[in-house]
Amino acid sequence: MGVPDALEPFRTHAADALVAFDFDGTLAPIVDDPEAAAPMDGVAAALERLAARFGEVAVISGRPLAFLERWFPEPSGVTLVGLYGLEARRLGERADHPTSGVWRETMADVAGLARMKGPEGMDIELKGLSITLHYRRRPELEGEVIAWAEQIAGPTGLRARPAKMSVELHPPIDEDKGTVLQRLAGSHTGPVLFAGDDLGDVPAFQVLDELRAAGRGVLAVVVDGPEVPGALRDRADLLVDGPAAVADLVLALGT
Ligand SMILES: [Mg+2]
Repeated sequence: MGVPDALEPFRTHAADALVAFDFDGTLAPIVDDPEAAAPMDGVAAALERLAARFGEVAVISGRPLAFLERWFPEPSGVTLVGLYGLEARRLGERADHPTSGVWRETMADVAGLARMKGPEGMDIELKGLSITLHYRRRPELEGEVIAWAEQIAGPTGLRARPAKMSVELHPPIDEDKGTVLQRLAGSHTGPVLFAGDDLGDVPAFQVLDELRAAGRGVLAVVVDGPEVPGALRDRADLLVDGPAAVADLVLALGT
């Protein structure tokens, strides 16, 4: 299936369609310093234009909402979902997960512990409601970082999830990109597109499979790159080559 054919149902049923994108590795190239990540030129503005025409345009990310808002400041028509569904801004309103607040303190404590007692050389990123333990700069620490994350997860009630060159600690709330996409899809009747590049996107691709089985029009866009897991490529209706190709796709949706 070529790009123009794949996008046709979305153009035809734009007002009922949901188009959702992961952020890192999808809208924004992966960079060594996570704080320096930025969407491809023009893509944020293009998504805003789409939001005016489409049923809903969403960015669903493991990043905190505040980070996503840098690129989609208010007033914005783009739905932003951060921390895998714990934080959200939809139709200009905050829409956080109701039980997420109590976990902020635990996260701060665990981040402090990680700084004092975690493997030396591990980078610690506290995102309010989650913590990412990075070994990107020190790949040889992989085993040690994973072991430390699992060891701290048990007694604190947190859950450890593998991610790209990192481990993330999350509150035990059953939210992921799949539950988020399912909820958003329930607000619309038209086709659903999701684009992602990472293990955290798998639940969203699973929801696309379920929607497809139920007769809904869907498009699974997998963004290829050096770190993309092979199992993810197999889920693609459309395999595109990096964030630059995603930017082209966003522009093509708007034509
Ligand atoms: Mg990603």
